[in-house]
Amino acid sequence: MREVVIAANWKMHTTPSDAGELARTIAARTREPGVTRVICPPFVCLAAVRDALAERDEAVAVGAQNVHHELTGAFTGEISAPMLAGLATWVIVGHSERRRDAAETDATIAKKVARALEAGLRPILCVGEQLTDRESDRANEVVDTQIRGSLAGIEADRARDGGLVIAYEPVWAIGTGRNASGIDAAAMTDAIRASLDGAGWGSIAADTPILYGGSVTSANIGEFLAEPAIDGALVGGASLKPDEMAGIVARAGITARARGLAG
Ligand code: PEP
Repeated sequence: MREVVIAANWKMHTTPSDAGELARTIAARTREPGVTRVICPPFVCLAAVRDALAERDEAVAVGAQNVHHELTGAFTGEISAPMLAGLATWVIVGHSERRRDAAETDATIAKKVARALEAGLRPILCVGEQLTDRESDRANEVVDTQIRGSLAGIEADRARDGGLVIAYEPVWAIGTGRNASGIDAAAMTDAIRASLDGAGWGSIAADTPILYGGSVTSANIGEFLAEPAIDGALVGGASLKPDEMAGIVARAGITARARGLAG
């Protein structure tokens, strides 16, 4: 049975002095057996979040929001995968805000996935179409291209062993309050598994957790998790609100129990 994952993307919010307390509060309110919880704060808050969670022995993983595609070198302001050792065990790769603001391409993202796997970081690979793609019936084609390009050169077994997770995040749904429907998100999730299969990753297509992301809240998470194809959520805005995270993870706990993951 596929893992159920709720990952929090705090984006450019929180500071080293308040991130630890927020992480502790969220961790304490989201203890649901069988649900993998991940908090991805800004780089400068990773240590504070790690320490705050360790202090209370909370089983919540810490993730970075990005990683550089090279190991070392003249890349001012960048952070490489080996630098994250001890700070994070997960990393978000290819988020649409980085594809947009940092002009990240599928080729660069594939290198980031490779660097993450080499460093023992579990990648959350983000893909998703623009509104114009969906309106012109090109969403599946765009996401298929992203999947093939962002995993190019990576062996399926390596990705599975390294715990690859994919997040389907339609760009028009991120931070807009306009979420996809559960049915559309599930259809894209099936399409992503077909892309993996078609690209020669058939051995991992059925096992790879695929999350939905895009304006997820405690009020709409049920619509996504009612779809057996969807394995959790990557949550942005709502992930800074403990009440919201409590509701989202509680709903994920129902799915984890239904999947026999809750012990
Ligand atoms: C995200 O940042 O990945 C995201 C889905 O944001 P939001 O939940 O705010 O739409």
